[in-house]
Amino acid sequence: MRRREFVRNCAGAVGGVLFAGSGACRGKMTPDRKPNIILFMVDDMGWQDTSVPFHTEPTVWNSLYRTPNMERLATGGMRFTQAYSASPVCSPTRVSMMTGLNPARTRVTDWVGHGRYENRYVQAPEWEVDGLQPGQEETLPELLGRGGYRTIHIGKGHFGGSGTPGADPTRLGFEVAIGGSRPGSPDGSYFLPWDSIRYPGLESYPPQTYINDALTQEANKQIDRAVADGVPFFMNMAHYAVHTPIIGQGDPAFLDKYGDRPDPEDDYAALLESMDASLGAILDNLERHGVAEETLVVFFSDNGGLSNHTRSDGAVYEAPGVTDFRFERDRHNSPLKGGKGSAYEGGVRVPMIVSWAGPSQSRSTGAHRLPITPGSVCASPVISDDLLPTLLSAAGLSHTREPSRELDGVDLSPLLSGGDFSDPERPLFFHYPHQWYRDVGVGLGIQPFTAMRKGRWKLIYFYGDGYKDGRGLDPWFELYDLNADVGEAVDLAQSRSEVVQSLAQEMHDWMVGAGAQTPVSKATNEPVPLPRAD
Ligand code: CA
Repeated sequence: MRRREFVRNCAGAVGGVLFAGSGACRGKMTPDRKPNIILFMVDDMGWQDTSVPFHTEPTVWNSLYRTPNMERLATGGMRFTQAYSASPVCSPTRVSMMTGLNPARTRVTDWVGHGRYENRYVQAPEWEVDGLQPGQEETLPELLGRGGYRTIHIGKGHFGGSGTPGADPTRLGFEVAIGGSRPGSPDGSYFLPWDSIRYPGLESYPPQTYINDALTQEANKQIDRAVADGVPFFMNMAHYAVHTPIIGQGDPAFLDKYGDRPDPEDDYAALLESMDASLGAILDNLERHGVAEETLVVFFSDNGGLSNHTRSDGAVYEAPGVTDFRFERDRHNSPLKGGKGSAYEGGVRVPMIVSWAGPSQSRSTGAHRLPITPGSVCASPVISDDLLPTLLSAAGLSHTREPSRELDGVDLSPLLSGGDFSDPERPLFFHYPHQWYRDVGVGLGIQPFTAMRKGRWKLIYFYGDGYKDGRGLDPWFELYDLNADVGEAVDLAQSRSEVVQSLAQEMHDWMVGAGAQTPVSKATNEPVPLPRAD
């Protein structure tokens, strides 16, 4: 009952306005004050990499991993069971969060540093290879900063390219940035020391400090400071976990629990529990300061879980309650198909929780502008494009982009308040005209594609060699009914061709409107045609 304690302790408050800095009440907020916001980002974390169930029923994965603080967050807030990253790789999703725009529109469609990577048929289009740069788009931290927030970035950036201004999060609107710039992964190891130029602000930690611990300490120091200064804060808490390297990188504090697992699945489970412990340490700190009830936490991953190189392929694992189980490539996100880099659900469906950070029993006060029912579940499809308008709304700010430009994302407040969208069938788009890794054939769905989700349907266009001419690898559509077939096992493109026709037209029109770029044919050196149904 933190809210009531707060009212009792703060007898000096008059008319709902607090005397700032009045002893025990220092830094606490009236309902009218702006909430703190923490975007708790995990890298490459899959939909099933948690003890919190996101499927319609508990899965074996939920018993394999221990994430008690995600459970704590989910108990106090809303789980989204059909949340999507806008991209199956990191930078495009992170830029979508920063701008509210889909990667097709910003043209930051691949991970920064990948250049114009090609497969045997096509090369990447002339995308924004340097990523997000200052002045291109108004960013979430710029908008929140103008609204009175202290804006703090901790950990992985990977917004802008090496040697460019956008590599530095402070040039993209963050007032404070610690532990990250251009790099999209750890500096070779999860243990410090790391290069102080590319990963600034971690120099004072002793050698062998685990990076998750250092980032958590830095986050809590910034929270301490913002609370002491009485300013609302927005923190982008962006872990490097659970990105590669994985082998030998598990947090020693948790590794012993997982010693019976095949390599590197022991390290992977320990990386996950370590990330979860970081969430717990931050939630504890918010409670210690008495600001948990006024702090909105969004838990999100930037793309689906890795299920290709590095992860175990074929190793059998047996444990109490776990029988007939083996780790397999393209199946680390089962029941979803595929993983990071893939057009299938395993590449883009991610764990998402939105919750106030305080104990759930105090919600009945109605003090929040955004009431979130504890322990609630939302099955509406949502996407990372939605985070900017949602967080601005939670902050009581409106979007002021100049020149005025439509966002791709929408405000999720109606869902968080227990309602629904005005258009429950709004389409979501995933545009990845790139080869993520090696070449076609490296993994399920890992080749250039554009996909859309609308209602129960998922339509995927695989570009192949770009031309339907009966030679090479002709492009093709696949259609899945996700309500009946979340694993995308039964392709309905032939039997439901009228659905393909209709959705393909919508995809085509959306791509024209967004200025989406198609891959460049290596045979013709021209961008290949937009998706079209026959
Ligand atoms: Ca990632």
